[in-house]
Amino acid sequence: MRIHAVPVLTDNYVWLIEGDQRQCAVVDLGATEPVLAKIAELGLIPQAILLTHHHADHTQGIAAFRAHYPVPVYGPSTEAQTWVTNPQVDGAVIDLPHMGSFEVWLTPGHTRGHITFITDGAAFTGDTLFTAGCGRLFEGTAAQMLASLDRIATLPDATYIYCGHEYTADNLRFAQFVEPDNQSIARRAAQMTPMRLRGEPSVPATLAEEKQTNPFLRIRTPLLRQAIEKFAHQYLSDAQAFGVLRRWKDEFDGLPPLSFK
Ligand code: ZN
Ligand code: FE
Repeated sequence: MRIHAVPVLTDNYVWLIEGDQRQCAVVDLGATEPVLAKIAELGLIPQAILLTHHHADHTQGIAAFRAHYPVPVYGPSTEAQTWVTNPQVDGAVIDLPHMGSFEVWLTPGHTRGHITFITDGAAFTGDTLFTAGCGRLFEGTAAQMLASLDRIATLPDATYIYCGHEYTADNLRFAQFVEPDNQSIARRAAQMTPMRLRGEPSVPATLAEEKQTNPFLRIRTPLLRQAIEKFAHQYLSDAQAFGVLRRWKDEFDGLPPLSFK
């Protein structure tokens, strides 16, 4: 299995999963043309679309793509029903010949019905777990997102995290701000500019690296927890600490805080 990145829109990634006989599956479809071009360039034959959630930057390329390749769309069973042809519930397994099997995990938080696709050595996390960050809480609660990230964190450390956006450099600025003494974060942040100047995606990253550098996977580490509780002026449960960290980042990014429970 080989995985190719197709950058689309401002900072979205469409992922092409290549099988051993030129089959491919497409993960999310925020745009059509660049994906069709990459498929033609690689000589791939699309077999399926895997959709993580309903937002436009992940779905608006689907209709035009399916006019060229009328393949099934495996996606959430509780959202995105305009596009999903094969709704998937938590724990379902999708077998794609020559590409492997993909387990579906319901990972709510960013949206209520967001799903993550898990295959051998890779997780397609959409806007749930980002490299060095996590999605905004648009529909779900902090407790839901924390549970989703905790579950993804049970995967083997060598698992590669393929997320929906190129946000790593921005996310690391916040990570450095909340964990100024974390050398792993500092090292990772220093790699970002040269990497992006070479035109390389900063995605995927291993789960091991995420555990060292992603504050949203680290709310139980004492120093970060102290920083969060200092920001909130009180002791917090795990879910509360997670929610405060998420709101802190929303403010850090210059956006008004989102309400959270
Ligand atoms: Zn989204
Ligand atoms: Fe998105």
